[in-house]
Amino acid sequence: MVRLLVPGYDRRSSEAALELAAAHPDLLDAAVGIHPHHVAGAAEADWRAVERLAAEAQVVAVGEIGLDFYRNLSAPAAQRDAFERQLALAVSVEKPVLVHDRDAHEDVTATLLASGSPRPVQVRGVLHCFSGDAAMAFRLAAAGFLVSFALPLSFRSAQGPRAAARALPSGTFLIETDAPWLAAGAGRRNEPTTALRVAAELAALRGVTVEDIAAQVGRTYRALLAR
Ligand SMILES: [Zn+2]
Repeated sequence: MVRLLVPGYDRRSSEAALELAAAHPDLLDAAVGIHPHHVAGAAEADWRAVERLAAEAQVVAVGEIGLDFYRNLSAPAAQRDAFERQLALAVSVEKPVLVHDRDAHEDVTATLLASGSPRPVQVRGVLHCFSGDAAMAFRLAAAGFLVSFALPLSFRSAQGPRAAARALPSGTFLIETDAPWLAAGAGRRNEPTTALRVAAELAALRGVTVEDIAAQVGRTYRALLAR
């Protein structure tokens, strides 16, 4: 079974993700959310639209949400408020989150692991395009979070993610393309088949077959959505 999760990053892309998933229910799931880059441009009406979409049956997760202190296209305080607001949304609709974390490892980890108020129920979800180290991945895995590996896993400079990919137990990771971003190589297009290259890299790092990786991440994805 092959399934792809299509995330949103603002109101319009969230609506588009749901339209796409509705047109291809045997292949696609949708997520909706306001990405940290787009927080500054989101009006209250956009927030309410995304919050309504989050309750739709074919929307399986809230994302992308998170913190990006590399580009800082929205003010950090606004990013933090939006992150908290959407973590609370995910708890209220009982769905996992897809988290974008760039140069914000400490903040993201502390926010996700915070318990109690203002979130009465533990949030769960996936750190997408994981760029932290093995220690961060294990801390998150111990709290039930998954990490997702994208093509930068194949870069020799990605020592943290590569160490995490070797050591994490099965059931704690997924694979992704992050398309259309992260196209590796001039003129190369990032598209869904890129996931096979990520799976091959992960298989090599873990000393298993690509088929093993495919089976593992399939089970992990189904478990994420079944809870
Ligand atoms: Zn992202």
